[in-house]
Amino acid sequence: MENPCSRQREKIAFLIAAAFSRDGACIAWPYGRNNQRGGYGKWRPQMAHRAALIIKLGRPLQKGEQAQHTCDNPPCCNGSHLIVGSHADNIRDAFARGLMTCKLPFGEMHHSAKLNESCVRFIREANTAGLNYLFLADMFKVSSVAIGKVCRRATWKKVV
Ligand SMILES: [Zn+2]
Repeated sequence: MENPCSRQREKIAFLIAAAFSRDGACIAWPYGRNNQRGGYGKWRPQMAHRAALIIKLGRPLQKGEQAQHTCDNPPCCNGSHLIVGSHADNIRDAFARGLMTCKLPFGEMHHSAKLNESCVRFIREANTAGLNYLFLADMFKVSSVAIGKVCRRATWKKVV
């Protein structure tokens, strides 16, 4: 019968080796993934890539800090591909890479363009995560006053 302690030791050894790797290639977590949450390596007590970053830093992550991949590969645990980022950084990054897309066609946007529901949801989520009105106004090519109204639910009240 498999000893759960030796299995756990093996996983920790894997994380330590990955955290201090100087190899340029991604090191994917081989012990199962969390497919509900973006395909990140599944480990207890926390996600594998996050644990690898903590090992590399030698300190726990502070409130508001997140483990972020520079390689955009969720199961990767290579310490040289992991950096500390804020949730806002993650959203900005994801947006920039087109992973999180708003349905409004950006090419057609101008001052009078109206936002749609998916934009409104994104704006509220991003603002909660720490992106400010000016940044969002620039991103959506609307005024920061309009963004403020969206965030305070003065407009688009029906959108949850
Ligand atoms: Zn990687």
